Amino acid sequence: MKILLVEDDTALAQGLAGALREAGLLVEVAGDGRSADFLVSTERYDAVVLDLGLPDGNGSQWLAGWRARGIDLPVLILTARERWSDKAAGFSAGADDYVTKPFETAEILFRLRALVRRAHGHAHPVITVGDIALDTHAGQVTRSGMPVSLTAQEFRLLSRLIHAAPRIVSRTELSEHVYDGDQEPDSNVIDVQVSRLRRKLGADVIETVRGQGYRMRGGGEPA
Ligand code: CA
Repeated sequence: MKILLVEDDTALAQGLAGALREAGLLVEVAGDGRSADFLVSTERYDAVVLDLGLPDGNGSQWLAGWRARGIDLPVLILTARERWSDKAAGFSAGADDYVTKPFETAEILFRLRALVRRAHGHAHPVITVGDIALDTHAGQVTRSGMPVSLTAQEFRLLSRLIHAAPRIVSRTELSEHVYDGDQEPDSNVIDVQVSRLRRKLGADVIETVRGQGYRMRGGGEPA
């Protein structure tokens, strides 16, 4: 899961980004609306955490601009403000959820996971494909009920495939959601990770679709 955190309070941004990274998420940070605007236009994220009070305008106004341009990713608003009118403006601008400062990091994490899951059409926190179950709330994977231990990168890769199932996911898309922007993985790194996942989960779990990418097997027919 790759998140853009838009927050001008450096200490708060670093603290929250650190905690989310520890939970296995990829996090990029933008300190103002303009940088966030550039990033959401040029990179792919699973969700945005957006502070309302930014140095170059209100977060709601930036969000309204993204929605007007068809950028439809889930947005969680962070606001220090208790006033209902601020939250209302956020929702009118296209926010999906909000958290009021001060907040528990765990709450942000749970809400993000729920937003991303729902954005992919999954209402339940446990997404099942064949005999593989991804618990998006606990961040755990089981096969036939038995826990499988994965590295953070393996988890992000599998999570992307499972959220997208039965769609085929390209190597580029996987790479964007598994690695930080400043790490430029070799094209075969994804293949190596997939091989590791197959060793841990079973050889038949992830299907290679020649020239297109990978998809989960047992995820039903493509829509
Ligand atoms: Ca602020």
